[in-house]
Amino acid sequence: MVEMYAVLRSPLEIVFGAGRRAAIAPMTAELGRRALIVVDPFLATSPELAQLVDALAAAGVESAVYSDVVPELPTRGIAACADAARAFGADVLIAVGGGSSIDMAKTCAVLTAHGGRVSDYYGERRVPGPVAPIIAVPTTAGTGSEVTPVAVVTDETRQVKVGISSPYLIPRIAICDPELTLTCPPGVTAASGADALCHAIEALTARKHTAADGADADRVFMGAGPFTDSLALEAIRSLAAGLPRAWRDPGDLDARSRTMYGATLAGLAFGTAGTAAAHALQYPIGAATHTSHGIGVGLLLPHVMAHNLPARMPEFARIATALGADAADQDELAARAPHLVQELLRGIGIPGSLAEIGFPRERLAWAAAEGLRARRLVENNPVPLSEDAALAILESAYAGS
Ligand code: NAD
Repeated sequence: MVEMYAVLRSPLEIVFGAGRRAAIAPMTAELGRRALIVVDPFLATSPELAQLVDALAAAGVESAVYSDVVPELPTRGIAACADAARAFGADVLIAVGGGSSIDMAKTCAVLTAHGGRVSDYYGERRVPGPVAPIIAVPTTAGTGSEVTPVAVVTDETRQVKVGISSPYLIPRIAICDPELTLTCPPGVTAASGADALCHAIEALTARKHTAADGADADRVFMGAGPFTDSLALEAIRSLAAGLPRAWRDPGDLDARSRTMYGATLAGLAFGTAGTAAAHALQYPIGAATHTSHGIGVGLLLPHVMAHNLPARMPEFARIATALGADAADQDELAARAPHLVQELLRGIGIPGSLAEIGFPRERLAWAAAEGLRARRLVENNPVPLSEDAALAILESAYAGS
């Protein structure tokens, strides 16, 4: 028998479907009596929020609203959210918004429970214990934060994005209602969708979970394997079926549903398997160009894939098939995968080169060195990433070839 090892981390419950936001209030009532609702500013003035507050009250839950969430989540705003949670005496957090709002709720829950500064928790498994339960309700289809153990913040002092990863950050419940994404403009749909596709592909091709990882406290719940492979592949199929249509026709609920389903599956996959080089190299690109995370990873992904191809031929052939390609020769299929991904992403308006987003050519070496500082992601890449290799990927992304 072939030895098989697989791990998966996930929320206790995931509810998916159009209109399912109606479940927020009754599910909150099962967890607490005082809810802090952390919302995206665009939602703060919407009738949706007023309806949620009323529904919570009817379910016996008092609520307060915190809406001061800035995209890409600069650390400076997080303490204020934690102060609001403490002052209100919140025993449950409801995050309704994109990844920035959900990650705000996660980091707020950590500071409220354990004190200190956000930077105390940077990296893997630094959160010392449980935090208040979080109900995560995404309004973009991309980050997968509703199901992951990760929060990503922008550290203004170092001018970089930093991750906090801990099982205690996994939301207790994810409620995924694709109707909430109908208002996303094409730019947000494209950036968040590119992020989701990158999660699925990097999870599928990430370092594998092995027998040896079971004895290592840092690795026991990490690594790609059969669970995450199935989720990632289905995510790619669902995103390929939905994302281009959702971008062209924002009001197409079927396309929105497929895109959100793909994004949540991709979140489940990378929440255990992790991401890799495209995410590591996006950090300096995002910091230098102030472009969103999704645009950066989408732009870099085909170039990282070309670098990783020799080590992951079978996975790349499956990616090409999931994207609709057909060929008898598996190697030929695999070799087409980076180009197919690039076509899909360019088709939804993801820029074609680093030059196009204004990244200065003379800073490519700096970006390569900075990207390698994200050691956790770099070590998860299937092919070792030297500084020269990182520079070659960035040069190719600069030219857009
Ligand atoms: P976002 O939350 O930053 O929101 C982007 C913009 O879209 C904002 O202006 C917001 O107001 C708007 N918006 C959100 N929902 C909308 C809707 N339904 N209609 C209209 N406008 C809407 O975007 P995002 O891509 O969801 O999140 C990005 C953040 O998530 C980044 O900080 C990224 O690093 C992080 N991230 C986190 C994880 C994780 O696992 N925690 C994974 C990947 C990325």
